[in-house]
Amino acid sequence: MTQTDLFKRIIAHSKEYGFIFPSSEIYEGLSAVYDYGPYGVELKNNIKDYWWAAMVQMHENIVGLDAAIFMHPKTWKASGHVDAFNDPLVDNKDSKKRYRADVLIEEEIEKIKAKADKEVEKAKKKFGDSFDEALYRTTNPRVVEYSQKATAVEQRLGKAMSAGDMADLKAILEDLEIADPEGGTRNWTDVRQFNLMFNTQLGNIAGEEGKLYLRPETAQGIFVNFLNVQKSTRQKVPFGIAQIGKAFRNEIVARQFIFRMREFEQMEMQFFVQPGEEMRWYDYWKQTRMAWHQKIGTPAEKLRFKDHDNLAHYANAAVDIQYEFPFGFKELEGIHSRTNFDLSSHQELSGKKLQYFDPEINESYTPYVVETSVGADRMFLSILSQALQEETVPDAEGNDSTRTVLKLHPALAPIKVAVLPLLKNREELTNAATDVFNKLKFSFQCQYDEKDAIGRRYRRQDAIGTPFCVTIDFETLENQTVTIRDRDTLEQQRVHIDQIEGIVGGKVSMKSLMV
Ligand code: ATP
Repeated sequence: MTQTDLFKRIIAHSKEYGFIFPSSEIYEGLSAVYDYGPYGVELKNNIKDYWWAAMVQMHENIVGLDAAIFMHPKTWKASGHVDAFNDPLVDNKDSKKRYRADVLIEEEIEKIKAKADKEVEKAKKKFGDSFDEALYRTTNPRVVEYSQKATAVEQRLGKAMSAGDMADLKAILEDLEIADPEGGTRNWTDVRQFNLMFNTQLGNIAGEEGKLYLRPETAQGIFVNFLNVQKSTRQKVPFGIAQIGKAFRNEIVARQFIFRMREFEQMEMQFFVQPGEEMRWYDYWKQTRMAWHQKIGTPAEKLRFKDHDNLAHYANAAVDIQYEFPFGFKELEGIHSRTNFDLSSHQELSGKKLQYFDPEINESYTPYVVETSVGADRMFLSILSQALQEETVPDAEGNDSTRTVLKLHPALAPIKVAVLPLLKNREELTNAATDVFNKLKFSFQCQYDEKDAIGRRYRRQDAIGTPFCVTIDFETLENQTVTIRDRDTLEQQRVHIDQIEGIVGGKVSMKSLMV
C-alpha cells in the first residue's frame, strides 16, 4: 500500500467503523471540523487518560486545571496573540487557492532534501556493503549541493519568519519558482499576515469592548491561574499545571483530515522553574515526552526531534517531536522553553503580581516556564496510522484470508472485550453470554454481538482494535469455560469464566505504560 493509499484508507476506515465523521455531513460538511464517533470518542478518551495519568497521576508536583475557553480579551493582548499570532497567507491568482507561504517553502525544502536522499539510495544500491553513507553525503558534489541549498533556504525562511518579512517570503517563492501544488501556475499575490484567532461578541456589549476570542491555545488559562493553583495546592517550584481542552484556530490551509483542524484539543503542561534552571528541565521534558510516545508501541524510527529554526516571540528554546504521518514527518508535539514571557506580560497588563517566593533561596521571582503541548487529535491520527494494518491470516477452514486489523495498544483500544454467543438462536447460549457481559461491564468497556457467523464477528472486532473476543459455546454450559481469542496472535485459549477479568485486566491496564 502506498502512503497516499494508506491515508485514504485511514479516512475511509475512520468513517466506516464509527471513529471520525465529517462535521455536519448532511450539509456537505464544514471544512476542517470533524466529529468523533462511538469508537473514536473511546479511543480519544483513552489517549487523554494516558496523558493525564502520565503527567498528573505520576508526578506529585503536577496538578490539573480546567479553565474556561473564554478569557478576558486582555489575556490575548498580553500573550502576544492579538499582535503576533499570524500566518503568512498567499493566494494564487489563477486557481484562487489560498496557502501558507511558509508551508509551501517548507514543502519545497523537503523536495530538495528528497533529491539528495535519492542520490544516496542510488549509490547505496550500486556500492552494496562497502558503501559509506556519511562519507558520501559529505563528498558527493550533487548531494552536497542539494544539502547546502536546503540549509540555505531553511535559514532564509527562518530569518524572514522571525522578522515578519513578508516581502522576502514572496521573494523566496519566486526565487525557488514554487508553483501552486494544485493549479500549477506561479501567479502569486503578495504575502500578507493573517490572524488565526476566531472572535465573537460578549452578550449585548457592542464593539471592541465586548470582543471575545476563542482561545487559540489552552496555556493562557494556566498562566493566569498560576498563583491560584500554587497557593491552593501549596506547590513549590519546580511544579507543573496540566490541562486538556479545546482550542480554536482559523487555519488557512486545512486539508489533512484531523491533522490540522479549526477546532481541536490540546493536552498542555506548563512547568514552572527557577530562572536559570529552564534548560535542565527542557532536556528532561524532551526525553520524558519522547519516551511517552514510544511506550504505546510507536517505533523509534517513526519519531524524531526537530529543533525550531525560528523561535516564537516567547521562547528561548523550542523543539518539535515529529511523527512520520502518511504525508511525511510532521509536528506531533511541541516542547518550548517559554522564559518568563507570559507571566511577566500578564503581570504588566493586569497590574497584579504573579511572583513566587522561594523559601529555599529566600527570594521572590517570576518563574520560567517549560511547556509540553501535544494535540489530542494529532495523537489520534498518529496512533491510527500506526495501527491500521492489513494481514493475511488463516480463516476457519485454514485457508488464507485478508483481515483489516487495528493493532492498538490494548490500553487504548475503544472496546476491551467482545462477548460473543456462538449461535444467536439458542437462548441458553445468549443468556450465558449476557451473564458474562453483565459481569465484565463493571470492569471494562465491553460489546455484546450475536449477529452473523463467528468469523465475521471476529473480523468486525479486529477492525475496531478489540484485543479480546470471548466466545460462549456449548461447553460453557457444561463447565463454565469460554474461549478467549487474542487479536494479535489469533490464539484461542480455553479458560474459566472467572479467569477472564484477570487475563484482560493484565493487558489493558494503563499501569504497564506508567513504569
Ligand atoms: P503547526 O506548525 O503544525 O501549525 P504549531 O506549531 O502552530 O503547529 P503549537 O502552537 O505548538 O502548534 O500547538 C501545540 C500542538 O497542538 C501541536 O503540536 C499540535 O499537536 C496541536 N495543534 C496545533 N494546531 C493544530 C490544529 N490546527 N489542528 C490539530 N492540532 C493542532
